[in-house]
Amino acid sequence: HHHIDHATPEKVREAIAHGHTHADMPDYETLETYRGAGGYKTLLDLREVGHWEKVQETILASGLRGLGGAGFPSGKKWGFVRANPGPRYLAVNGDEGEPGTFKDRYFLERTPHLFLEGMLIAAWAVEAERAFIYMRDEYPAVLEILRREIAALEDAGIARKGFIDLRRGAGAYICGEESAMIESIEGKRGLPRHRPPFVAQVGIFGRPTLVHNVETLHWVAKICREGPECLSATEKNGRKGLRSYSVSGRVKNPGVHLLPAGSTITDIIEASGGMLDGHSFKAYQPGGPSSGLLPAHMNDIPLDFDTLQPHGSFIGSAAVVVLSDRDSAKAAALNMLRFFEDESCGQCTPCRVGCEKAVKLMEKEVWDVDLLEDLCTVLADASICGLGQAAPNPIRLTIKHFMDESEYVPPEDGYDTTGSLENRN
Ligand code: SF4
Repeated sequence: HHHIDHATPEKVREAIAHGHTHADMPDYETLETYRGAGGYKTLLDLREVGHWEKVQETILASGLRGLGGAGFPSGKKWGFVRANPGPRYLAVNGDEGEPGTFKDRYFLERTPHLFLEGMLIAAWAVEAERAFIYMRDEYPAVLEILRREIAALEDAGIARKGFIDLRRGAGAYICGEESAMIESIEGKRGLPRHRPPFVAQVGIFGRPTLVHNVETLHWVAKICREGPECLSATEKNGRKGLRSYSVSGRVKNPGVHLLPAGSTITDIIEASGGMLDGHSFKAYQPGGPSSGLLPAHMNDIPLDFDTLQPHGSFIGSAAVVVLSDRDSAKAAALNMLRFFEDESCGQCTPCRVGCEKAVKLMEKEVWDVDLLEDLCTVLADASICGLGQAAPNPIRLTIKHFMDESEYVPPEDGYDTTGSLENRN
């Protein structure tokens, strides 16, 4: 996927005009190819004779959980949204801004229709009036693919004209938080809302709204077509299902690796071709910067929902970053806090001021552990949304596991250990 890094919308449009031959345009599955292989038959059949409760049962049986990071059972969400009177909306969270996460892009650049069919099935299930796709603007190729394929769906009569509303994000990480995304879709500044009420009750323009991540919908289509076993049949280390790990850092083959949900970091490094030559495994970020860093000796934990909480971490969107003996965990944690400082929306003081203070304290050669711990308590207890609430994780885990780093040199601004600066919005 590195080859489209510098694709601009102009370049991509040019590529399309020349029949996809441009090097920057990924070779994806078009509507024609997808339908040729039986695509959209499931959706059209459901619209004809389907019962939404039956589909919900199938989704629940598969064990599918929200893959944007929160892990809420997808089938249950449908029930909550349906419980509220219409008009209802559907919103797709495609604002993949979590540093180290690139799985949604991976799927959209290859099989956009699997996602689009899943989205239309979910929209049918909750009788949505409209489906908004909130897409990260830093993915110009994806945006162009979606523009083109949505138009094709409208021409084919599979989607009503104007039913799918493709929106571009504007580069704010916080707009990946579902209530901030909804504010942004409404045309306002992306500030997270207080909960309750939940977006299933009061979402876009005050209407009940079903919010799904891109990959979640990709699985909805697969499960409806192939049955719940396509997800639930895989079992490993007592965990069921599959997980798309976005792997980066000091491994030979970084990329998206689809593995059993019970995989440990050892399995993930192995699936990524092992460590780079000359590097030995030191630490890992299991699921985005909010999950902090764990030391190499904690290598037997299945990286799934719920398994990391006892260790002060969580899987989130499964953005795994592998660090080696050449990296400083303290520098990486500082980098994470700098990211939060930049991306804090600023509406609550603990997060706006707390992230800034944390950065100042972590830039010092000797960390004031007691003061940092105080700050962590305030951030976790008094922040409105997940950004501020989870910002303590990298601080606390680094204090717990990496304070013996003797070679630590406070990095210059812009020094990048985890790769997250490059991903920053
Ligand atoms: Fe904004 Fe941070 Fe408060 Fe979240 S925790 S609402 S990002 S200031």
